Amino acid sequence: MSLTKKIILIFLLIFISSTLAFMLINNKKSEKYNKNINVVNNKSKVKEHKNKYLEKRNFSCSEVIYNDKSIPVIMYHSIDNKEDSELRVSTNKFLEQMTYLKENNYTTLTLDELYEFFINNKPVPKKSLVITFDDGYRDNYENAYPILKKFDFHAIIFVVTSTIDNDVNCLTSNQIKEMKFNGIDIQSHTLKHDNLYELTYNEQLETLKKSKNDLEKMLNNKVKYLAYPYGMWNDNTIKALKECDYIMAFTTNSGWANKDNGLYKLNRVYINGNADLNEFKRRINNANY
Ligand SMILES: [Zn+2]
Repeated sequence: MSLTKKIILIFLLIFISSTLAFMLINNKKSEKYNKNINVVNNKSKVKEHKNKYLEKRNFSCSEVIYNDKSIPVIMYHSIDNKEDSELRVSTNKFLEQMTYLKENNYTTLTLDELYEFFINNKPVPKKSLVITFDDGYRDNYENAYPILKKFDFHAIIFVVTSTIDNDVNCLTSNQIKEMKFNGIDIQSHTLKHDNLYELTYNEQLETLKKSKNDLEKMLNNKVKYLAYPYGMWNDNTIKALKECDYIMAFTTNSGWANKDNGLYKLNRVYINGNADLNEFKRRINNANY
């Protein structure tokens, strides 16, 4: 073989092998591209699922009530099978209570819906209630959240913002963010579980503002509702709440929530560890239990 032929052959071999290599790389790239497309598709599916909790609901089809009526706002704390404590409802009891609500066609309202009901008299189904948790226990994520999610229930957790990511018994920011996308609204229970009644006006303003700002930054949505730690508040508290753009607040006073009490003094139905299913039913079926 002449030198020229050898050179041509070598060039030909180089050309063929680089073409093959190019095709191989491109194939890999398109595989990767297809995978990415799948990820995007899956993401939009997740988004679709998440958004169902954020849709504005109209309740005109069912039997409805107007704001001359009261609504039970249930107050829970810890949900766990750990040792008994008044503040702790066992996971089994909680499941039993939620199952009762589901089987009896209760609607779990968001706080925005409750606010619209009170302020603009927007009707809600006759069997409506609100589920709230105080303090932000980690077991709310571990035990209550899977049950709420299974039943497609809305709920609100009032968190003590200084404990987030800092206390092993309390919620982490990742847990909070995950729940936010699945029907669980996160609102304020002050910065350090402060007894607002004992603080000066400026101190109250500070804890209300800081807890609200921290949560808004974390969640990227408005924080407008508060549950008073220890159920304690005074006139300064309400002034400070208005100053910080909170529009409703919840006490620990027993009873159903009614607009006549004022939107900063709403009652709640306390469900503790001692309540059996009959007591639960009694409290959510009788406005004057
Ligand atoms: Zn509390």
